[in-house]
Amino acid sequence: MKKKLLLTLLSIGLLAGCQTTTPTPVPVDYSQIKLAKGNIVHDGEVYIPAWVRNEKKINQVLSNVHYCADNIVLRFQTMSTQDITDSCKLLKDTETRFHQLFNRQGKPVLHDNNNILRANIYAGRDDYVKYVTEHFDVPSDNGGMYLEGLPHIENNSAEYVAYLRNGKVWNLNHEFVHYLDGRFNTYGDYCSPPHDNHYGPEYCPEPAPEPPYMIWWGEGLGEYVAHMKDNPAALKLAANKTFQLSELFYNNSANWNTKRIYRWGYLAVRYMMENQRDKVEDMLSHVRRGDYARYQKVVKIWGTSMDADFHQWLDTVAIK
Ligand SMILES: [Zn+2]
Repeated sequence: MKKKLLLTLLSIGLLAGCQTTTPTPVPVDYSQIKLAKGNIVHDGEVYIPAWVRNEKKINQVLSNVHYCADNIVLRFQTMSTQDITDSCKLLKDTETRFHQLFNRQGKPVLHDNNNILRANIYAGRDDYVKYVTEHFDVPSDNGGMYLEGLPHIENNSAEYVAYLRNGKVWNLNHEFVHYLDGRFNTYGDYCSPPHDNHYGPEYCPEPAPEPPYMIWWGEGLGEYVAHMKDNPAALKLAANKTFQLSELFYNNSANWNTKRIYRWGYLAVRYMMENQRDKVEDMLSHVRRGDYARYQKVVKIWGTSMDADFHQWLDTVAIK
């Protein structure tokens, strides 16, 4: 009951446009938390997300809060009014586009409590490197990260860590799509789908399950929804036909490079979304239920059947 009352008060605060103070977080009894499959917690230890443990420290540095909407929060060091307006617009436009594509508004996957995404924005790369590892227990050698946490926990908070570059939040759009994909398309926490990435922030346990993984989809979708048809960096590569579609389904951490994962991932997802939508829907029907064994079977059945068509399609979109 206490939780419900606090939640109600929180909602009223949000509706009233309360934008200057951090709302009192609903207390979570972490000792009662049943762990999601995947996250490493040693026997006898209790999982408490770093951003919960370090809340005070984080608030001292990221001392400003702005609500773009009741489900999108910016917590930041310093941002201009224009940056805030632009960032909020970008996120809300992306959310609208995502729901137009998938028609899942109001229908998150089962056991997903990530109602709110909080973007944590450092003033620049130097501050990001200085603080982000201490605050969020993540590596700092990146351009931003989405931290899904344990979405099956009530009041889990989905966090995005980022920094300003040339007055704009770097990678804001792409990371936000990971949040939407995690909430509306892929069941479970980050470690639930087949993966071979054991790095932070999730530190999924080894050994890696067998491929195919979902990297082609997650990273490709991030780029697709962020850029839609306007992605010259990828479209300039299309005519090279560097990869078969069937190879891209096997994108992984070992063959990770910007062109393959982001540019070619974009081309793979765009092709599938625009030309093989029935296959995407079939795939998502399993992924949304967390039946990842079935997902892998589906991709294996696809095999090389779409390779020739993919290469023909590349010619139609290539920027030469
Ligand atoms: Zn990404």
